[in-house]
Amino acid sequence: MTSQAVALYVHIPYCLAKCPYCDFNSYAARVWPEDAYADALLAELAHATREGVFPRGTATSIFFGGGTPSLFAPRTIARLLERAARELTLADDVEITLEANPGTVDEERLAGFVAAGVNRLSFGIQSFRPELLLALGRRHSVEDSVRALGAARAAGVRNLSLDLIYAVPGESLDDCAADLERAIEIAPEHVSAYNLTYEKGTALYRELQEGRVDPAPEELEVAMFHLVRDRLADHGYAQYEISNYAQHGREARHNQAYWRGTPYLGLGAGAHSFVPRDASDDATSYGTRWDTLRDPNRYMEAIRATGCAVASREELTRTQAMGEACWLGLRERRGVDLDRFAARFGTPLRDAFPHVGQLLADGLVEWREPHLRLTTQGLLVADSVFASFQ
Ligand code: SF4
Repeated sequence: MTSQAVALYVHIPYCLAKCPYCDFNSYAARVWPEDAYADALLAELAHATREGVFPRGTATSIFFGGGTPSLFAPRTIARLLERAARELTLADDVEITLEANPGTVDEERLAGFVAAGVNRLSFGIQSFRPELLLALGRRHSVEDSVRALGAARAAGVRNLSLDLIYAVPGESLDDCAADLERAIEIAPEHVSAYNLTYEKGTALYRELQEGRVDPAPEELEVAMFHLVRDRLADHGYAQYEISNYAQHGREARHNQAYWRGTPYLGLGAGAHSFVPRDASDDATSYGTRWDTLRDPNRYMEAIRATGCAVASREELTRTQAMGEACWLGLRERRGVDLDRFAARFGTPLRDAFPHVGQLLADGLVEWREPHLRLTTQGLLVADSVFASFQ
C-alpha cells in the first residue's frame, strides 16, 4: 500500500538585501548561521515526524524557498535532503525545487545543487530590463540572469522556472512584451508572472503612501495580464493558476499540493504547515494548521530547547475548511473539484455556498463539470471572489 502523499517546504530566511516590495519572512544578512540553522531544520523535521505531529507519508515535492536558498552551500542542501529521505519516503519522481537568486550562483554551485538532488530551479528574474530591476530594487543585473540561466542548463537542470513581475512603476506595455519575449527565448519549462503588489509593511508601500512612487494604472495592469496570458499561451505555456504558466506536464507539483489540500510540513522560521482531516475521521476539526516563530534566532533557540518552535496553531472548523477548499481550488484554472468537495464534506458545493448562484449570474465563475472555476473576468477580481468564501 502506498502511503499518503505529503509535501515538504523548507524556509531559508536570509537574503543579501531586502527588496523594497518584499513581504516574505526574509532578512538582509552579510553572514548567516548556516550550520546552526540547518541543525534546527533537521531537529524540527525529526520532531514533527517522530512525535506524530505530521504524517510520515510519501513526499511528492520538496521546496526550498525563502529568502534566498541559493545562498546556502550545496553540501547543506544535500544534508537536508538526506535527512528528509530518512524521515519521509520520497516518491520516485519527487519534485525538488530550489529558489535561486541570479546574482548568487555559478555553474559549479548549481551543479552542486543538482548533485544534492535538486531537480527544479526557480529563478527570481523579475525583469530583463535594467531600469525595471532598478525600480524593483533588485541587486542582480540582466547579465547575471542570462548567465545564471545558461549555467543552470549547463549544470543539467531540465526543469527551470522564471519569476517575472509586471506593472512595475514606469513599465509600458511594450516593456512587458519585451520581457516576455526574452523569457520565451530562454524556453524555461515554467513561468510565474506576478502583478506587482504594494504590501503593507514594505518599503514600497511606504513610498506609495508618501506619493513617491507612481503605480501602474489599473487599465495597464489588466492589459498586461492579458498580454502575459496570450503571449505565453502562443508559445505553449498554459495558464494553470492565476499567475502560473507551464509547458504540458511541468506544472509546479508543490504549489498544486497547497491548492489541493495535500498535507504539507513547513520547516524553518515563519513556515506554515497544514494537515487536513476528513469528515469520516469523526472529529470536530477539519484540519490543523500552524506556523513557527518568524525571527530566525528565536526560531533556532526554541528548536534547541524543545525541538518545536510553533508560534500559533489553529483547528479548522467545517465552515472554514469548506471555504478554504473553494478559494484554494479556484486559484487553479481547472477550478474546485466538485466530487472531491462533496466526498470530503458530505454536501454539494452549491448547497454549502448558495451565493455561488450570484457569482455565476455576475459572470465571475462557471461550471466546467466536474469543476467550478473562475471565468476570465473572475480572474481579474479573484481576491474578491475568494473573500466571498471566507
Ligand atoms: S530576494 Fe526574494 S525573498 Fe529576498 S528580499 Fe528580495 S524578494 Fe524578498
